[in-house]
Amino acid sequence: RAKDMGKNNCQFYTREMNACIEEKLVLLEGLRGALDDGQFRLVYQPKVDLRTGRIFGVEALVRWEHPEHGCIGPDRFIPLAEESGMIVALGEWVLRTACRQNRAWQEAGLAPLRMSVNVSPRQFEEQGLVPRVALALADSGLAAEWLELEVTEGVIMRDLQQAVAKMGELRAMGVSLSIDDFGTGYSSLSALKSFPVSTLKIDKSFVRDLGVSEGDQAVASSIIDLAHRLRLRVIAEGVETEQQCAFLRQNGCDEMQGYLFSRPLPPEQLRLLLEEQAAPIVSVPQPCLLA
Ligand code: C2E
Ligand code: MG
Ligand code: MG
Ligand code: MG
Repeated sequence: RAKDMGKNNCQFYTREMNACIEEKLVLLEGLRGALDDGQFRLVYQPKVDLRTGRIFGVEALVRWEHPEHGCIGPDRFIPLAEESGMIVALGEWVLRTACRQNRAWQEAGLAPLRMSVNVSPRQFEEQGLVPRVALALADSGLAAEWLELEVTEGVIMRDLQQAVAKMGELRAMGVSLSIDDFGTGYSSLSALKSFPVSTLKIDKSFVRDLGVSEGDQAVASSIIDLAHRLRLRVIAEGVETEQQCAFLRQNGCDEMQGYLFSRPLPPEQLRLLLEEQAAPIVSVPQPCLLA
């Protein structure tokens, strides 16, 4: 780190580094007011059952509609929100909004969906998570069975015992849990069997080269096998091609999510997709999704 290198350290800062730090500061400054200003919105990406080709759930993904910088993706501001502690308030907004949206779809007569919400490390570790989830469900009127939380291996492994206890409390409430980006963290296999989760999510980095890389094929099919032996379901994220989809289905993967089926959509557009699915004559599932 340049700071630790002595007094004449400015020479180590390149212009790009400055620009990068400046951007961070601007976004960090803006984050504080953005929530009160209503600058965040959620988009929803369908999750599809590979056996039936039908949407059974969606993942809520947050977007920041910045007044000057336009739409900003979560990879650019979630880490900042995490560092600054803002993630707790933002995460609560995401959770409440997603539960309310899911309940609204149900009340509109659509077939019930499972809503998945991402939970970041600080949010998961925070004392009030379980009561916050209970309150979001109670206030929205959504039954717990229609909510799933996605956590990463890293979050669980930080404090294994406490994480397993917390997951157990959520599970007891009826909320499902899945492990996001599976295969990129370092949960030990012995720990994995004690997680009260229902689904493993194969990280998109292993999905990208399916059909090209034998290594990634081995990893993906091993995760599928592992999940099934542990009596868990398995979903692949980042599925973009028919080839990837075919490999996953041939290897027994249960579910998939990715641009091949649909990008994350604003609620009005997702609703159209669901209505289409409900009307069999109009619905034309992607060829590869048909068994
Ligand atoms: P994630 O939870 O692993 O979400 C998957 C990411 O892959 C999403 O990026 C999604 O838009 C993208 N994706 C989906 N299908 C495809 C595909 O076919 N190809 C490719 N290349 N990408 C695909 P997004 O929306 O930019 O979110 C990035 C990450 O930010 C998420 O990764 C999650 O870790 C985090 N995130 C998003 N929303 C929230 C939130 O509300 N709360 C928290 N704590 N984190 C969030
Ligand atoms: Mg996720
Ligand atoms: Mg993921
Ligand atoms: Mg990810």
